[in-house]
Amino acid sequence: MCSLPVETACQPTIGHYWDGQVVTPAAGRSQEVFNPATGSVSSHVALAGAAEVAAAVAAAQAAFPAWADTPPIRRARVMFRFLELLNQHRDALAQLITAEHGKVLTDAQGEVLRGIDIVEFACGMPQLLKGDFSDQASTGMDNWTLRQPLGVVAGITPFNFPVMVPMWMFPVAIAAGNCFILKPSPIDPSPSLLMAELLRQAGLPDGVFGVVQGDKAAVDALLEHPDVKAVSFVGSTPIAQSIYEAGARHGKRVQALGGAKNHLVVMPDADLEQAVDALIGAAYGSAGERCMAISVAVLVGDVAERLLPLLKARAERLVIKNGIEPDAEMGPVVTAAAHQRITGYIAQGVSEGATLLLDGRGHSVAGHEGGFWLGATLFDHVTPDMRIYKEEIFGPVLGCVRVKDFSEAVNLINAHEFGNGVSCFTRDGQVAREFSRRIEVGMVGINVPIPVPMAWHGFGGCKRSLFGDMHAYGEEGVRFYTRQKSIMQRWSESTPQGAEFVMPTAR
Ligand code: NAD
Repeated sequence: MCSLPVETACQPTIGHYWDGQVVTPAAGRSQEVFNPATGSVSSHVALAGAAEVAAAVAAAQAAFPAWADTPPIRRARVMFRFLELLNQHRDALAQLITAEHGKVLTDAQGEVLRGIDIVEFACGMPQLLKGDFSDQASTGMDNWTLRQPLGVVAGITPFNFPVMVPMWMFPVAIAAGNCFILKPSPIDPSPSLLMAELLRQAGLPDGVFGVVQGDKAAVDALLEHPDVKAVSFVGSTPIAQSIYEAGARHGKRVQALGGAKNHLVVMPDADLEQAVDALIGAAYGSAGERCMAISVAVLVGDVAERLLPLLKARAERLVIKNGIEPDAEMGPVVTAAAHQRITGYIAQGVSEGATLLLDGRGHSVAGHEGGFWLGATLFDHVTPDMRIYKEEIFGPVLGCVRVKDFSEAVNLINAHEFGNGVSCFTRDGQVAREFSRRIEVGMVGINVPIPVPMAWHGFGGCKRSLFGDMHAYGEEGVRFYTRQKSIMQRWSESTPQGAEFVMPTAR
């Protein structure tokens, strides 16, 4: 039974959205949606094929000319109204996230707030779209640049942030004058329809925002559609790479953010209590299902002996329960398949010879026996050749690697294929500065475990954590969703100048 306060939530079949309407097909493919805390099916989500994608793109393409021509300040006013509505409905959005993703409600509320940050940023679009102007670039001639929207653009998003990650994309794309089609994860699809409804109530013209629910078939149709000009993707690395390649093959602009293996270095001089709190929150928060989760602790010098007893004791006390309960610190993992994958990695770690200090397998929560539960898992003596070190586990599993000094820590991290986030805990400013400069990772925290950049800075990793040049949101996001045009203009006097056959130069 669903007791959520918003009509769009928990429909028996969660449909698509285009042209200002929810579209629920009477037949066709669909997939079960679960409540991870109970393990029961809460609804079904429709899965789009090429026909639904074509209809959504056609509605967006029809809306594009008028929206692109709408003055940026009027587009920004729609964003301001959307911002107001989001603030009114942010708990409803958070409840939808918890019901389908499983993360604890306070964390879901934080996710919504980080999404709202981007909407606030997008409200400043008139300023962000201002071009450059060179007066008298040549005698009697001016040269200026302007940024224009691309057309219909698409966003393909992961299960782990069903509100925040779409909001990394669509507020910026829409405020810049594009029409946007969201293809959310079918694991937690409901928030997409509530966001669509709030955009409609904010006065966004029909067609400017669309949602196609679905899986690979919907993604392939978006990638192949000639009217989709750009694709933003966030998800796992193999899919990110394939989308980057397929998008490029079809002549699209693509930014594809992939997976991660984020390290947190604890230097011997670090404040241990602070480091333990940071590791617990960053490794086990959202059951480790964050692309910025810390999954490796790099313990430098003698710090392991002092830190591990504190870390283990705190991990044992984690309050694991249905995320809707106010004192829950960690909820279930998202699906039965994720549960199976993560327990497989724990078994793998044991067989590879890592020391299992805390085993989260077999954890259950009274009254919720069908849920996808795991306890906190902690490994010591993890080494770089192990699969549990190399691969993204995406669950509440923290591996500790012991290194002798700072250089070994930096080299270890730089050799890893992923480069999303990283953190260093130290009291030494010089170590902090060297770490920030030498580390080959896109987002760096100094005594900050999860350094997710603010809305106006942009989000992106490097190496196999990001395919493409542009970060999500911030000014890079504005650049991604617009194309620069340069205009040179002269209003010459009526005296004929004669034809010119040499390369024009400034005169
Ligand atoms: P995923 O790659 O399985 O799915 C992401 C999206 O791609 C979903 O919309 C999904 O429906 C679609 N998809 C899945 N398989 C596909 C296929 N074969 N072809 C086309 N599309 C396909 O990722 P997920 O499990 O939903 O999310 C977790 C992953 O996302 C983790 O790897 C995590 O690190 C990553 N992530 C990265 C960031 C980042 O900013 N770098 C942020 C959040 C999540």
